[in-house]
Amino acid sequence: MIITDSNIPLIYQEKVKAKAKNVTIHSIVPGEKSKSLSVYENIISQLLAIKFSKTDLIIALGGGVVGDLAGFVAATYKRGCRFINIPTTTLSMVDSSIGGKVALNSNNVKNAVGTFYQPEKVLIDLSTLKTLPNRHFKNGLIEALKAGILGDEILFNLFYNDQYLGALEEVVIRAINVKKKIVEQDVYDNNIRQVLNLGHTIGHAIESCNLDKVLHGEAVALGMSYVLGEALKVKTKKILRAMNSDLNFAINWQEIYNFILNDKKVSDQGIKLIKVDKIGQPYFVFVNEEELLNILKGE
Ligand code: ADP
Ligand code: ZN
Repeated sequence: MIITDSNIPLIYQEKVKAKAKNVTIHSIVPGEKSKSLSVYENIISQLLAIKFSKTDLIIALGGGVVGDLAGFVAATYKRGCRFINIPTTTLSMVDSSIGGKVALNSNNVKNAVGTFYQPEKVLIDLSTLKTLPNRHFKNGLIEALKAGILGDEILFNLFYNDQYLGALEEVVIRAINVKKKIVEQDVYDNNIRQVLNLGHTIGHAIESCNLDKVLHGEAVALGMSYVLGEALKVKTKKILRAMNSDLNFAINWQEIYNFILNDKKVSDQGIKLIKVDKIGQPYFVFVNEEELLNILKGE
């Protein structure tokens, strides 16, 4: 079964279909809303109806939404069946298709239900990006920039020197390798893998408070600017401006602050943030509520 969405050009589907036997296509409505228990159940019903077996193969063909949903189906259908991911967005190529996180949303909570399930293969064909709308194209590359900040100065400099478009394959490979190296140390996200959340605590709050206005990467871009050391922040902001990902709408920091306090469990130690002062050297800090407010106001 190929799981895809109705925005993905048919030509990609046809290409995959031509290489497989007995293909069933399941096409979902594009967008985050489709990562739901009801869409999940529809797919399970169809799999049962066609007598899909554990040894049959689920192929995700699309962006992060399709990958997360199809991966969750593959992880759970008859306790797990074969799974290959073919990401077609920059975001899914450099980030969500790597590392095995699969999930659905529930009760308006993103990824409320999920697990870890590694695909047999991730197949990346950069030519699929030709049809990806430019805003989504840039959006995903923010996660590659994040990977550069976390662990690859050459990758960071491809962005800083405005060479990333001409070196797209290198950008994707380098970003994946940063993530791969981190995930392999902590597959189940108990400690070091959390550095991949750089910019995400504040970014997720910005995304959630401005749902129609911002994409995930755009919110993370802004979220990162609160947690980088001064020199790195200046450089990163220059990159974001050049990429046109420098979101300049007025942030209601009081609203962001309230969201974070509601969203995150505040432990005795405070709220955990990831900071980077020097490329390749992320570290954790715990801030109390007052310190968080100052960080948000200070930006
Ligand atoms: P992401 O991977 O960025 O998390 P989505 O899975 O929501 O996000 O995909 C973003 C949008 O781009 C969706 O509307 C999806 O249908 C569309 N899309 C994905 N890949 C392509 C592509 N290669 N060409 C055109 N549109 C695409
Ligand atoms: Zn992200």
